[in-house]
Amino acid sequence: MTEEASGAGTGRGPAASPAVARPSAGLDAATWDRAHDELVAGLRDLIRIRTVNPPGDEIVAARHLESVLADAGIPSTVVEPFPGRGSIVARLRGDGTGGAPLLLLSHLDVVPAPEGGWTHDPFAGDLDDGYVWGRGAVDMKGMVAMEVAVMRLLAAEVRAAGRDPASDPVPGLTRDVIFAATADEEAGGVHGAGWIVQRHPDWLAAAGALNECGGVAVTVAGTRLWPIQVAEKGFAIYDLEVRGRWGHGSMPGDGGPGAGGTVDGEANALLRAGEVARRLAATGAPRLTPVMERFLEGVAAAVPPEIGAGIRRLAGDGPAAEAALAAVCTDAYRRALRSMLRTTFSPDVLQVGTRHNVIPGVAALTVDVRVVPGTTPDDVARELRARIGDDLAAHVTPTLRLWGAPVEAPADGELWDVMASAIRAADPDGVPLPAMATWATDAKHTAKLGIPTYGFSPLLLGPDDQFLTLFHGDDERVSVEALRFGLPVLYDVVRRFCG
Ligand SMILES: [Zn+2]
Repeated sequence: MTEEASGAGTGRGPAASPAVARPSAGLDAATWDRAHDELVAGLRDLIRIRTVNPPGDEIVAARHLESVLADAGIPSTVVEPFPGRGSIVARLRGDGTGGAPLLLLSHLDVVPAPEGGWTHDPFAGDLDDGYVWGRGAVDMKGMVAMEVAVMRLLAAEVRAAGRDPASDPVPGLTRDVIFAATADEEAGGVHGAGWIVQRHPDWLAAAGALNECGGVAVTVAGTRLWPIQVAEKGFAIYDLEVRGRWGHGSMPGDGGPGAGGTVDGEANALLRAGEVARRLAATGAPRLTPVMERFLEGVAAAVPPEIGAGIRRLAGDGPAAEAALAAVCTDAYRRALRSMLRTTFSPDVLQVGTRHNVIPGVAALTVDVRVVPGTTPDDVARELRARIGDDLAAHVTPTLRLWGAPVEAPADGELWDVMASAIRAADPDGVPLPAMATWATDAKHTAKLGIPTYGFSPLLLGPDDQFLTLFHGDDERVSVEALRFGLPVLYDVVRRFCG
């Protein structure tokens, strides 16, 4: 969030590790050393399995994890409902007295890694300079590997008690722990979590789920914040047909309203679509959800008062809020925060034109709308129309192609308390806070089963570590120290919630 948070430097070189001791979560150091080594090796193995979506081919990773879990005595179910699209589900038992299970959720697919910007082979799983490098290191094979590591630790405890993880409860656990790593999250999850939710909801039924993105340390003005993702924005993908009048390129109109001309005088669909895009993309008024109010107030209260005052101004409108954003945030965090505070419209695809001398009579514009919780499809339709404006609306036909409802899990209650306590136990100076993601995850699917789903993949990042820009970015990587801290925290949450 501050300059410190995302590092304005080269982003290379070992991160300065915060001086926080590795949490023990009740296990001895030798156990953690072994588990950590296995975690790092497991992550590198996963990165080497190409699961770029499309086509995905997650079945290879699912089969790999099936054998990793089997080595620990954990039986699993691998499904391949569509060719190559594999997901895996496994379960360790509690004694059944504690209520519904805890779901450890993750996805196996990754986005492509275009060549050019990488200094390491994105699919080699290099361990270099204190980092594991590669596509999926943070999104989200790192968390897959952490969840597998927790399952293996628990299974080892069953075996150490002379019992069988396939059938006997984990000593001390009262709830089941479910592990589910799915296909296709990066393309909406229809072939992964969406399919399981529809066909086998009982596989995932749980009191709560831990998923990607949240629980990652962000340093603001020297204070370590731990935003836990409790909400995520919804999306509405709109296709707009923008109509003009076909004509000869030698006789253009007056430039249109964006260029000092008129709507009627400008029948060029390209210019009209450009003007529609410009109007849609304007930064709208903020709309703070209760989660974001609590987030901003929590940050403001945790940092020095002069910076806190700036944080509180972020919730305002207009130039003062933008100036406050610029003062406290680097670019990546500025864009993220701006989006968390309002519904956004991003015109992302424009298809128009046939020949150099033909004024185009029609254009197709696709807009990615991200809505804050509490927004309905009707709300979006109204705002879209208002942004386009009366003068242009007659020339535009919007069609809603895709709707994903925003989701929100409670920022209180037992699981929330457990996550916050585990963070505080591991990092007494750290401040856990509820936060909202701007993107969509498989939580959209688990929400349909009423499972409160949290972004909680604990990583201790240093002030110079980058995080947000690594998602889908070049040189995606995660530091081994971040993992070394995160694994015991994740284990601790499982033990506390299921114990
Ligand atoms: Zn992801």
